[in-house]
Order: sequence, then structure tokens, then C-alpha cells
Amino acid sequence: MISPLPGLPVWRRPVGVPLSGLIDGQVDLLVIGGGYQGLSTAYHAARQGLRVQVIEARGLGEGASGLNGGQVIPGLKHDPESLRALLGDAAGEKLAAFSAGTADAVFELIRSEKLDVEHQRDGWILAAHTQSAMQAAVQRNREWRQRGADVMVLNAAEVALLTGAEGYCGGWLDRRAGVVNPLALTVELARLAARSGAGLLVDEAITGLQPRGPLWGASTNRGRTLLAKKVLVATNAYSRGLIPGLAQSLVWLHSFQMATEPLPAEVLEGILPGGQAVSDSRRILVYYRRSPDGRLVIGGRGPMREPRSVEDWAHLERAMLRLFPTLQGAPITHRWFGRVAMTPDSLPHLHEPAPGLFMVAGCQGRGIGLMTALGSSLAAYAASGDPDVLPLPISPLRTIPFHRFRRIGVAAHVAWYRLLDSLER
Ligand SMILES: Cc1cc2nc3c(=O)[nH]c(=O)nc-3n(C[C@H](O)[C@H](O)[C@H](O)COP(=O)(O)OP(=O)(O)OC[C@H]3O[C@@H](n4cnc5c(N)ncnc54)[C@H](O)[C@@H]3O)c2cc1C
Repeated sequence: MISPLPGLPVWRRPVGVPLSGLIDGQVDLLVIGGGYQGLSTAYHAARQGLRVQVIEARGLGEGASGLNGGQVIPGLKHDPESLRALLGDAAGEKLAAFSAGTADAVFELIRSEKLDVEHQRDGWILAAHTQSAMQAAVQRNREWRQRGADVMVLNAAEVALLTGAEGYCGGWLDRRAGVVNPLALTVELARLAARSGAGLLVDEAITGLQPRGPLWGASTNRGRTLLAKKVLVATNAYSRGLIPGLAQSLVWLHSFQMATEPLPAEVLEGILPGGQAVSDSRRILVYYRRSPDGRLVIGGRGPMREPRSVEDWAHLERAMLRLFPTLQGAPITHRWFGRVAMTPDSLPHLHEPAPGLFMVAGCQGRGIGLMTALGSSLAAYAASGDPDVLPLPISPLRTIPFHRFRRIGVAAHVAWYRLLDSLER
């Protein structure tokens, strides 16, 4: 069965999505956006006794949190020394320490709250396709081992054994990482938030925000007005015009994914036998994993426009066959895509453009751990107003110059990077 475009993800959705609806009267915290960031913050804030309302414009899990690849990877695109260079020693080390624990936060929440989320914690492999990528892996390994992380460098034979894939010269294994069913994590976070007392309304968008004395007034596309002491704008890659300059401070890209049908046991036994997730080191990377029902799920950069036909996933089919020639002829049953928010410095950004109005955006495709873990800090900040509880510095909202032309610029970069990748094969 070929799923119709835009395509539903392969992930199983837990039944009985909790919709606590609208709570009465003024709230302490209005959360705009019901992905990991919004729901985790709502859960932690409600547990601290705040009156919290979440408003989600679409259905639950229809943003990046329900559509992603399910790879729970600690750390950021920058390693600790790079964070120190960018932010200064103290702030850089604080962010590195926080980022080291983001996968722990996800798996600990699943365990302690007995969430109905399929998961497996056997690590993540960054597979190196060149010797210079290998050198970067060695440096990364040194920095993280100095900080006590359970990580190791792999040689070519070890990567071949663990992945079953062809063409890597080595890699890096981060045993702190794992995989989850991303849609189930979203739904279960919603369940937790609702159980803790947060209101949760879906299919309704916030269309305007205005200061009302010491409060914020928020209007919706269904004609409601809500009053809140503080507002978290958790719209990330799906931000549009609500906060002037927010969407223009980001470049969002489409990440495309597809899944094979469940593979026969004799084919499956050679593919990721240890259950690790993999990203490769190419400029236009591909990432892949096995699903619990024995499919290969593979993703990577797609066109800037929305897909028009299954041909828009053809580059992923080619990548899959380059890595796993034995999958020639394996039927692809699911194809889908979602938006990823990137920032010019590859850091997540935290802004507070007006008192009581704050937001985090820009996960660079690594937001499951980051956003789930950030929820407790964002809730503490909403309750206390103390920026020391935040692992990230608050930075001014900066519009990217020539943002209007981002599609042309990104498309040109992607074409150039694909060419460089193909020359290095
Ligand atoms: C295809 C794909 C694969 C990925 N793979 C991985 C991976 O393997 N590992 C990983 O760590 N990360 C991955 N990511 C990134 C990760 O999914 C995101 O970083 C993370 O889900 C962001 O969570 P969020 O809550 O900030 O944003 P989202 O989950 O995108 O939530 C934002 C929500 O805001 C809502 N919204 C927007 N405007 C309004 C409004 N005006 N009113 C109300 N609601 C509004 C949107 O509908 C949306 O649901 C991937 C992303 C994609 C798209």
C-alpha cells in the first residue's frame, strides 16, 4: 500500500488521546504549540501548580514531534569545546552539561511515568564516510569521554558489523542514545500534561497576541480570547507571523522519510542487528533505524517545496540501496515529511522579545531529547522568572538577512553539497 501524499508516518499512535480542552478563566502560562516543547513544559508547569493552557493549531503529533525519525540523541550539533568557544567557558559548559543529559531525560520519563512508548536504548552511531569525518569523530569522542560520557570510536569493521551497511570508514557510538516511537511520545506527553491539570485544545490556532496591562491577551481563529500571565511560543519550525521576526530568524527545511514493508527475517538479521540508530557524516546526511515491526526507516533532506509525487523520495531509495543492496525490490509502504528549523549558528535559540513572552526554536533536527528535557527548565522559568534556571542564554531575535531568498539559497547549497558528497563516495 502506498500511503497518499503527504503521507502518514509509520509510527503506531496510542489509543485514547486525552483532550482536556479549555480550562476556565485566566491562566498562569499559555503554551502555543503542542509538540515536545509545549507539552513537556505544560506537564512540568502544571505539576508545579501553575494553571496552564496548551493550544495546538493542528491535530496532536502533526508537527515535527509526531513526524520525526525517533532517534533520541544527546548533545547538540556543537560539541563541548565548540560550545565554550561560542558562548564562553561557563555558559558553554552549562549548555554542554545540559545537552549531555537530554536522552536520559526522555528515557527516565518513559520509565518513571510508565509511558506507553515503544523504545530501545542501544545507542546511536555517527557513521563516517571519509577520513576527515573519522578525525572529527575521534575529537568528539575525546571531548565527551573527558566529561564521562559512555561513548567510543568504532573502526570500519565494527561499523560494518553493527549497521550491515556498505561504505563507511569508521564511526562513533554514543551509548547514551536510543530510539522511541516519536508519535507515541507526543501523545503520552499530552496525556501526562492533561493528567497534571493542563488544559489541552487542538485544531485551534492562536492568531494574535497583545499585551493587556500586566497580562497577555491571545486571540484564536475560532474567535476566542484567552488571558495569560506568561506565554511560551512553542511553534518552532512551524512558526509563521505570530511573533514578528521569529520565522525570519530561522531557516526551515523539509526532512523526508520512508519505511519499507516489514522485512523477511533473513534480510533483517544483517541490518542493524544491535538496534542502534544511525546518522551518517555526509553534508546531506541520511539517518536510519529499524522499526519495532522489522522495517527499515530512512530519512534525509527533501526538496524545499512540498512533495508532488513519490519521485520526491527517489533520492532516499537510492541512498537505501547504496547502503543496503540486499533491499533491491523491497516495497516502500510509507512516505512522509516534516519541517526542521535551523539557525545560522546551529544552536537552539531562546528569546524573550517582551516580558513574559518567551520561545525556543531551532533544533537542527535533534529536538526529541532537547525539547523534552527543556520542558522542566522552561516551566521553572515560567514559575520563577529566574534566567539562571535556563541552560541556554536568552538572546535577541535576529532576522536572517535576505531571508526572503532562503529557498533559492538553501536549494543551491543542497545541490552543491550533494555534488561534494557524491565525489567523496
Ligand atoms: C522528518 C523529521 C525527522 C526528524 N528526526 C529527528 C530525530 O530522529 N531525532 C530528533 O531528535 N529530532 C528529529 N527531528 C526534529 C524534532 O522532531 C523536532 O526538533 C521537535 O519535534 C521539535 O519539537 P517542538 O515541540 O519544538 O516543535 P513541533 O513538534 O513542530 O511543534 C510545534 C507545533 O506548533 C504548532 N503551531 C504552529 N503555529 C501555531 C499557532 N499559531 N497556534 C497554535 N499552534 C501552532 C504546530 O502545529 C506544531 O504542532 C526531526 C524532524 C522532522 C520533521
